[in-house]
Amino acid sequence: MAWNDRFECMPVEELQRFQLAKLKETVSWLYEKVPFYHRKLDELGVKADDLKSLEDIAKLPFTVKNDLRDNYPFGLCAVPMNEVVRIHCSSGTTGKPITGPYTAEDLEQWTECVARVLSAASVRKEDIVQISYGYGLFTGGLGLHQGAGRVGCTVVPTSSGMTERQVMLMKDFGVTALCCTPSYALTIAEMAEEMKMPIRDMPLRVGILGAEPWTAAMRDEIEQKMGIKARDIYGLTELGGPGMAFECDEGNGLHINEDHFLVETVDPVTLEPVPLGQRGEMVLTAIQRRAMPLLRYRTKDITTLRREPCSCGRSFVKMDRITGRSDDMLIINGVNVFPSQIESLLSDIEEIELQYLLVVRKKKHLDELYIRVEGKKEVFDAGPGKVTEVERKIAGHIKGLMGIGVGMELVPPKGLKRSEGKAVRVVDERPK
Ligand code: ADP
Ligand code: ZN
Repeated sequence: MAWNDRFECMPVEELQRFQLAKLKETVSWLYEKVPFYHRKLDELGVKADDLKSLEDIAKLPFTVKNDLRDNYPFGLCAVPMNEVVRIHCSSGTTGKPITGPYTAEDLEQWTECVARVLSAASVRKEDIVQISYGYGLFTGGLGLHQGAGRVGCTVVPTSSGMTERQVMLMKDFGVTALCCTPSYALTIAEMAEEMKMPIRDMPLRVGILGAEPWTAAMRDEIEQKMGIKARDIYGLTELGGPGMAFECDEGNGLHINEDHFLVETVDPVTLEPVPLGQRGEMVLTAIQRRAMPLLRYRTKDITTLRREPCSCGRSFVKMDRITGRSDDMLIINGVNVFPSQIESLLSDIEEIELQYLLVVRKKKHLDELYIRVEGKKEVFDAGPGKVTEVERKIAGHIKGLMGIGVGMELVPPKGLKRSEGKAVRVVDERPK
């Protein structure tokens, strides 16, 4: 059952007509209200009326993260400040943050989008929902909070951190749905085991997890360790936060809230459109926002779009799970390596936990990829010989399948720092 059948299950042709009308409105709005877009549209000589079909979106200018930085804090805001009712910021830790202003109407739409996500994950009014995303400027906490409120759930706004307390409340309150990053879900699961209160024995049945890349292997691990269904949720601050895309029961890709976001994929180098079914950088246009709608925002997230009928009845296009950003790619002695590739190879190894850190450094003139990963207790109990054997096995597996030599260090259980929000998986120590 969809939260909003009218839009979520709208026949594609009707949906596309709706999108075109909203796109034109947005282009006119930006032309009138935001000098940055006025200039850009003039430079390209394009007006809202030139958009005759959705393909004409290719005539519009791209927007990149630096445009937001250059216009910090409110240069791209299309409404006067007295119409802005909320400001969020990106969770980025370097440089000036990305600001996200919302009008009351924008907040309303965001809430609706998150309600759809929860509903698709089978969350209902009767559910007790623990929100362990950080509250505050980060969009995760308040975004899920508003959506769960809209569904009518019992909301437990724990925010992230103080993991022991998270476990205790989860048990005492009989929490049935958990919202947090996938890495924090694993942290909670581990803490629960340590406290001898395994999550499997609790009423928790579903996790709405996102805000960071995670592999299918990590999903399996979470589902198995916690005895729940794990559903993906995607979003970014620049376009209003979590709730842009979500998984339904099929679990093979995320539906995009297409009545709010127009999605394209482009070749990240040539910026030419990439057809459905092929990998590209996802580019998003907000077509209903008022305070800061962006045209053709380059997300840097790499995915494949598919438009096929889905058994859930939703007509929204689906994107493949995002396992990495184009700017996460590491170049190790000329070989392109995505952290998610390493994660999925590590998940083939039985003797370890999926807790790892990739360290890239210079050894003389060459790059070295050094992987620290947690071994299971049994491995360490069996002595140093076994530890070395497992290290060699992993290095061999990676060499065999990716062709790169890596340094391996198996660290004892709980040897790596746990995540309470977005996990840090890569440390690049090479001189810049
Ligand atoms: P927020 O997670 O609140 O939107 P940011 O705007 O800082 O915070 O981060 C957005 C980025 O996080 C996205 O561009 C994407 O790289 C990553 N991300 C968010 N959700 C997911 C997800 N479900 N899977 C993979 N990556 C995700
Ligand atoms: Zn579906």
